[in-house]
Amino acid sequence: MCHHCVMETVKSRMLSRRELFIGSAAVAGVATLAATLAPRPLFAQAAPTRAIDLTHEIHPGFPTFDGQQQFFLEPKYEIASDGYNLNYWRLEEHMGTHIDAPLHFSEDGRSVAELEASELVCPLVVVDIREKADGNADAQLTPDDLGAWISANGDIPDGACVAMLSGWGRHVDGDMFRNADEAGAMHFPGFHVEATNMLLEQTRTVAIAVDTLSLDHGQSADFAVHYSWLPAGRYGIECVANLEELPASGATIIVGAPKVRGGTGGPARVFAMV
Ligand SMILES: [Zn+2]
Repeated sequence: MCHHCVMETVKSRMLSRRELFIGSAAVAGVATLAATLAPRPLFAQAAPTRAIDLTHEIHPGFPTFDGQQQFFLEPKYEIASDGYNLNYWRLEEHMGTHIDAPLHFSEDGRSVAELEASELVCPLVVVDIREKADGNADAQLTPDDLGAWISANGDIPDGACVAMLSGWGRHVDGDMFRNADEAGAMHFPGFHVEATNMLLEQTRTVAIAVDTLSLDHGQSADFAVHYSWLPAGRYGIECVANLEELPASGATIIVGAPKVRGGTGGPARVFAMV
């Protein structure tokens, strides 16, 4: 499909999703989901004893969705000449371990600054699809995977962040992270839109997270998950690290989202308390 056709498809899809969202938001108050959740203990465990870092280290060579360098660091002041060290950073919002705010894929969604603190501390659901992702780089997290998690662990808690553990985090220092073929198409796992629709319709999940470069799987041409999940007032976290160190249920994620006015996302320091 030509670039122009893709953009036309994307625009019409954005409009229809937006109309759908406005309709459903009016009925269900989707945009303020976090505000409607009943008060609950912030930590699933009474006394967490470990903080696990779910953040990859950012550097100029960090792999990016478009394959171009997205982070630049340049000294402004140096201790030898200026008495102290201070750098300039130049970066794209969606690089490293980072947030996708609703505004990223909607005309009038909330910016990253408008995410509420109560949405950034969440019960963490870890859905392990490593077995199928090992044999298939195009694997997607499906409703069946959510069903298997629910059978083993009970209902998805209100206000949860649901994370896909595909095992892709171990590839972060190599070409396998993008896994682009000769035609340029990438191959890495992501959420299937039927799974995120299930989360929208049947749970009060506020966020999804992936250990890959995109909420949608690498081959996706229509960004179906981005265009449905984010306009529904939810957010995403991409390039999450170290999910394999966590239990399937019982951890609490703390998302240090940047509070940039009008930001569509941004690099975040993300932890799990276990
Ligand atoms: Zn994204």
